[in-house]
Amino acid sequence: MELLFLGTCAGTPSRERNVTAIALTLGNSGSGGYWLFDCGEGTQHQMMRSPLKPGKMEKIFITHLHGDHIFGLPGLLTSRSMGGVTEPLTIYGPVGIKAFVETTLSLSASYVTFPLEIVEITAGEVCDDGQIRVSAWPMSHVIECYGYRIEQHDKPGVLDAARLKAEGIPAGNWFQQLKRGETVLLADGREVCGQDYLGPSIKGKSLAIFGDTAPTPAASELAANVDVMVHETTLEASMAEKANSRGHSTTVQAATAAKLAGAKRLIATHFSARYDFADSERLLAECREIFPATELARDFSVFKV
Ligand SMILES: [Zn+2]
Ligand SMILES: [Zn+2]
Repeated sequence: MELLFLGTCAGTPSRERNVTAIALTLGNSGSGGYWLFDCGEGTQHQMMRSPLKPGKMEKIFITHLHGDHIFGLPGLLTSRSMGGVTEPLTIYGPVGIKAFVETTLSLSASYVTFPLEIVEITAGEVCDDGQIRVSAWPMSHVIECYGYRIEQHDKPGVLDAARLKAEGIPAGNWFQQLKRGETVLLADGREVCGQDYLGPSIKGKSLAIFGDTAPTPAASELAANVDVMVHETTLEASMAEKANSRGHSTTVQAATAAKLAGAKRLIATHFSARYDFADSERLLAECREIFPATELARDFSVFKV
């Protein structure tokens, strides 16, 4: 999987950065498919400057209904439709997301021709397609807001084809069944159990994408031992009171949350528009003092998960 940041600015865009949207490409499907997390205004313009194709977007997860996280939806949806995309799309988000999308489309006499499903979520499991499970956790923000935990299911280990050959088991279609750990009956009457020929199962990747939030105890569970944690860092360490009073976190608070949760890496994003590139070294240093495995996202940054 890969994270592509389409916007890293909090509240309003700046000259260098757009408002929040993050794409998660799903390497496991091999289809170029991806999911979008939040969709600030101008997200479709950012996508045009990236390799992301509208038709490959399968799901959109919205953390909360603040404008800098959803104002890009109507344009993105209608452009996807006008581009002739017929693939279905599902939007997940807090209560109100359905009314927002349906109202903006109907008041502007707009519509989409692809199948669009809008699912209003609460905390708990959001979806599970058999390959990836997504669950939502409540954030501490000024309106209802969620963070998403994304977990790949573990995959069966590698089939020991050399050992099968050494034991005189011929290659054939049944290798696919053995790979899944199933038992196969060969033509000569032998029963072969796939489990006996599989290496250790391959642990699925996990990541946590936080919505806007002040420090919250939910962080430790949402991001427990994840490979990658994406957390907002709206303001610098010395502005904690201002950040927290508006339901946001500082660099140091995000880094502390990553440390407490046992995350392997932290990617900081959602910086106030007051910061430009010249400030990024300072913000990064504040994070790394607490949690060395921190990286700062810029617009169009790509991180392998
Ligand atoms: Zn925001
Ligand atoms: Zn917000």
